[in-house]
Amino acid sequence: MIDWSRVYNFRPWLDLAAAPSCLYCGAGTAGSGCCEGCRYGLPWNRLACPGCALPSSTGLSCPRCLRRPRRFDQAWSAFVLAAPVHSGLLGLKYHARFEQARVLGELMACELRSRARPLPELLLPVPLHWRRLAGRGYNQALLLARELGARLDLPVDTRSLRRHGAGRDQIGQSASARRANLRGLFSASPSLQGRHVALVDDVMTTGATFDELARVCRKAGAATIEVWSAARTP
Ligand SMILES: [Zn+2]
Ligand SMILES: [Zn+2]
Repeated sequence: MIDWSRVYNFRPWLDLAAAPSCLYCGAGTAGSGCCEGCRYGLPWNRLACPGCALPSSTGLSCPRCLRRPRRFDQAWSAFVLAAPVHSGLLGLKYHARFEQARVLGELMACELRSRARPLPELLLPVPLHWRRLAGRGYNQALLLARELGARLDLPVDTRSLRRHGAGRDQIGQSASARRANLRGLFSASPSLQGRHVALVDDVMTTGATFDELARVCRKAGAATIEVWSAARTP
């Protein structure tokens, strides 16, 4: 087949057409999907409880984490779940807006690189039940993990965690009811023995799912467990 872009030397024009404009305001950007102005105005979650990523004015552990530490070692969330990240994540989850994963992944990777912490050895996207995966066609947590993996040069492990059920709707349930619902929903393989891992999801709400996953990862021998999400409910 003839490569017309080579024949007519259309490459520069094609590149110009492919240069992404800002996802939030549509302005031209120098190769990234978010312009400087919008980047500055995003709802960053830079001061947060290290135990559960809840926004905090001091950046110290929240009373709940002091009272009852989570099963994971550290939680990090790039943003507070607010505009325009919130609608972006809804678009990614329900309307296959994959460009959201690309841009959010890039913004998240940038922040993660600037942290004074060693990066994990593996990224573990929160698994979706096969029935839900069949309905939606993709797992938004995996899409985000892939973007992060590519940018941070970390492997994405989709084999070590298994989900055995869809789980009931957690909305409006007490913390103990949520925990009871999640029991037995996941399993982890012994390949996690001694590893430093980061569980990846789009949104962290109460952290109950992450907590249960951390429990099975720990049981499987994981040494250090971080939980990463694009956004945290305030
Ligand atoms: Zn912009
Ligand atoms: Zn906390």
